[in-house]
Amino acid sequence: MPDVQIGGLVPFTTIDYPGKIAAVLFLRGCPLRCAYCSNRHLLDVGDGEYDPEKVFAMLENRVGKLEAVVFSGGEALMQGEATLAFMRRVKALGFSIGLHTNGFYPEQLRQAAQTVDWVGLDFKATREKYKKLAGNDIAYDRMIQSLDIWLATGHELEVRMTCDPRFMTKSDLSEITDMLAARGVKNIAIQKYIPHFDDEKDKTTADMREQFFNDNVLRDKINTMFESVIWRE
Ligand code: SF4
Repeated sequence: MPDVQIGGLVPFTTIDYPGKIAAVLFLRGCPLRCAYCSNRHLLDVGDGEYDPEKVFAMLENRVGKLEAVVFSGGEALMQGEATLAFMRRVKALGFSIGLHTNGFYPEQLRQAAQTVDWVGLDFKATREKYKKLAGNDIAYDRMIQSLDIWLATGHELEVRMTCDPRFMTKSDLSEITDMLAARGVKNIAIQKYIPHFDDEKDKTTADMREQFFNDNVLRDKINTMFESVIWRE
């Protein structure tokens, strides 16, 4: 089995796993090409810049200091068993395991449920806009499969929507949150789109990006539908 390919590492964070001090590993490879991706250097599968054994040793040294390790990317499940095996080793050190995923690999997610304690799942757009945003016409259906698989596990879940006004309207956000509430999702996060590259800056205005957060009627409606709603502005 090939080693897991790690392309980035944050050794200490308090915002990437709810309520826990964590490290984040960014794994290489992603099947999507989202217009707003801020991790473009990780998208192609290839050799990771970090030696997995050195990363494992670093985590071993932080037992008692960190509480969780989050697998992010890219799309961490794209590396299949290499990722799952590394997760199991890290879990055996006593850490909670988190996973940030786009939901493109529902069967790997089902297997990961034996190890992963918390998932942050991206819900990027309505079905009609998913292909335009993510460059893949099966990504929406796979994400919905992953959502249903994870809901059935009963494990912790946060569904995240990044409100890029090029691909999301307030009406879309209302429609998506209605659907999530009807499916039994309890925790969501609504994230402001922040342009990361010069080529994106001129395509949206601050007003366009803030409209989702300034509409108190929409905000109040969404707040009443879930146990927790995080507005990441
Ligand atoms: S799923 Fe995430 S890592 Fe992959 S292209 Fe989209 S934003 Fe980038």
